[in-house]
Amino acid sequence: MDEFELIRKYFTRASADPDVLVGVGDDGAVLRPAPGRDQVQVIDTLVEGIHYPRELSAADIGYRAVAVNLSDIAAMGARPRWMTLALTLRAADPAWLAGFAEGLFEAAGEHGVTLVGGDTTHGPRTVISVNLTGDVEPGRALTRSRARPGDRLFVSGHPGDAAAGLELLQGPAARQPDAERLVDRFRRPAARLELGARLAGLATAAIDVSDGLYGDAGKLLAASSVGGRLDIGRLPLSRELLAVAGRSRASDYALGGGDDYELCFSAPADAAEQIAALAAKLGLPLTDIGEVVAGAGLSCVENGAPVEYRHAGYLHFGEPST
Ligand code: ADP
Ligand code: MG
Repeated sequence: MDEFELIRKYFTRASADPDVLVGVGDDGAVLRPAPGRDQVQVIDTLVEGIHYPRELSAADIGYRAVAVNLSDIAAMGARPRWMTLALTLRAADPAWLAGFAEGLFEAAGEHGVTLVGGDTTHGPRTVISVNLTGDVEPGRALTRSRARPGDRLFVSGHPGDAAAGLELLQGPAARQPDAERLVDRFRRPAARLELGARLAGLATAAIDVSDGLYGDAGKLLAASSVGGRLDIGRLPLSRELLAVAGRSRASDYALGGGDDYELCFSAPADAAEQIAALAAKLGLPLTDIGEVVAGAGLSCVENGAPVEYRHAGYLHFGEPST
């Protein structure tokens, strides 16, 4: 199978989007932006063995390659529209390509995103880059930099589940029901696009949690030139994570584990009711986990007392908790 056949067979699909004037197959894609909207560009790369384990199926890899980019678009409060795909492959394995394309188009289709071009190359290991273009109402993009002292800090969903799921995926316990639900949170991240879009005008700053809640919340605070206090007792630990990991380890996963693709955001304290209403409407927990303060750095409290949080590094089941 040569490169052109591969592109035609796996990555060329009819587009339902009338704003894609020229898609896959020409030297470049021709796209018609919605008049007057601001454009948002994101790109994320997955490297085999680094960003996903070899145990992950091709369909899950394809799904994740799109989902992690959708998550960045969500964190900007934007709407996703078009994507390009740069794919480096060790070999053209038809079964792998069919699975990968299925997962990729599934994630894209869930949000009306069209694949409009890409590049396919040969290399020593699989590397997948997806570039996504989105748009947002003028001036309404949600950034990291406008949190203010007195704001509350929130997180969506159940942080820690995906990081625990990734470890379970690589171990023998992956088939128990609780473990399976955690593994699914790693395999199929749900980009919080509707949440991001509805936070515009409500949140003061937002970031998507890809590298661990503690670190990513810290990035939001630093970008806003403020500090924060995170209440460990308020972390929305899932029942499954508590069952599999126990409370102390579950908190470590929630604070330090990556791959959540939830949104962490700040909002004025008087927005609490609106945020509760939004959580109910979306059927998604939006939990107040702390506050924004003047100064710098993110400190932690538990039961009212300060605690020092040290990132435990990679956590493994079966080792003593730190
Ligand atoms: P060129 O040499 O002009 O850059 P290519 O031969 O690399 O063109 O690609 C041919 C067409 O296929 C282009 O429209 C390109 O965007 C598209 N394409 C290449 N690889 C992929 C891919 N993995 N997914 C989607 N489209 C792709
Ligand atoms: Mg060309």
